[in-house]
Amino acid sequence: MKSIQKPIVIVGAGFAGMTFALSLKNLYPSLPILVVDSEPNFIFKPLMYEVLSKEIRSWEATPKFANIFSDAGITFLRNCLTKISFKDSILEFSDELKLSYQYLVICTGSIPNSFFIKGVDENCYFFNDVHDLNKLNSFLKESQDTASHKKLFIVGGGPSGIELACKIKDIYTDQFEINVIEKSNEILNKNKIFNREQSEKALEKRKINVILNSTVKEVSETKISISSEVGITSLDKDIVIWTAGVKPNLSFLETDQITKKFGRILVNNNLQIENHKNCFAIGDISVIEGMEDLPITAQVAMQEGNHLANNFELLIQGKDSLPFEFQDNGEMISLGIGEASISGLGVTLSGKLAFEARRLIYASKLPDITESLKSASSWIFEKKSIFKKFLKKDYSN
Ligand SMILES: Cc1cc2nc3c(=O)[nH]c(=O)nc-3n(C[C@H](O)[C@H](O)[C@H](O)COP(=O)(O)OP(=O)(O)OC[C@H]3O[C@@H](n4cnc5c(N)ncnc54)[C@H](O)[C@@H]3O)c2cc1C
Repeated sequence: MKSIQKPIVIVGAGFAGMTFALSLKNLYPSLPILVVDSEPNFIFKPLMYEVLSKEIRSWEATPKFANIFSDAGITFLRNCLTKISFKDSILEFSDELKLSYQYLVICTGSIPNSFFIKGVDENCYFFNDVHDLNKLNSFLKESQDTASHKKLFIVGGGPSGIELACKIKDIYTDQFEINVIEKSNEILNKNKIFNREQSEKALEKRKINVILNSTVKEVSETKISISSEVGITSLDKDIVIWTAGVKPNLSFLETDQITKKFGRILVNNNLQIENHKNCFAIGDISVIEGMEDLPITAQVAMQEGNHLANNFELLIQGKDSLPFEFQDNGEMISLGIGEASISGLGVTLSGKLAFEARRLIYASKLPDITESLKSASSWIFEKKSIFKKFLKKDYSN
């Protein structure tokens, strides 16, 4: 590729950054690429529920970046971005390293959003990364040896809340009384109808209590306060898991440094940051002008990573390229141990067959991410031959 003097710098190696880095390297093998991430391991977030239930082992869903990138011939640096000077094209990191860039791709993902609600940051568990997973796992395991019917609240009736509720109920049958609190009048209100109906059945079957039209006002060490049309109710709690929303992970940006929309970096349909044509933002941290309704998912993040790699040469030459277009390949929801629901591309499927199809569909996507992840994921590759027909349907990218 012409006119490149320095490595392409990618900060954040989740679904967006990893896909972009590997696709770009595949297209231009001699191009120098530097990937920086604050963590040592990739995390395949949709499989975090299966790590919790021990249906897969932790290392299968969290391969080491160093292995993935060295296999691909890409340089990996573990460091945490703390500041960007767009004017001087310099990145600053937590160990005071400074790095100049010619082309920058930012993809640092999301963090939980507690919406400044009193006590949430201090008194809730989260389920967004490997640290949250380990912390929650420790609490749940420790609870096994103490009294049963502990009061567990999950705030947020989106996919994370529902998947987590079903999984925890199946692992710890009588240990917890599970309540899902949702502010709207139905769970999964942004998801496919089929998946919502299957989820409602799964929750009912497991006697998981769903509290609709209710918002959390405060979480203390021992209580959770919920506001609904009947007023404010304060309930005893043993644990609250917060899955009520995410916000972009942008702590390295100064206020008003660049244009944002809904708190996320605004990019054009070439995924370029306004007024900084050599800088791109992809995945959960960005919003595309005119495509504000796109879901915040791995599916979108990976498609953006692939799209940017395919157009990169044209973009740096200042030539026209095709704008990003999202292809909705359907959605999958895990519903307890060994069960799931799938909807999209004209196919709906639920129960055990959907569970097997879901893991096979993920397996079919893994080689796109990395060969090392593929070889590590023995669990996912079992029974591959049975589900060839589902692999023809592309759900996760
Ligand atoms: C439990 C769970 C289940 C999910 N299930 C699904 C699903 O079934 N289907 C689906 O499509 N989506 C799912 N999602 C959403 C999906 O995981 C995200 O949309 C996706 O991970 C976004 O990709 P990303 O690359 O933008 O961010 P991420 O994948 O989060 O990657 C961000 C990377 O940036 C790094 N980073 C952050 N800050 C810095 C910094 N300052 N310096 C250096 N590195 C940094 C992080 O360590 C991380 O590796 C799920 C999310 C969760 C939490």
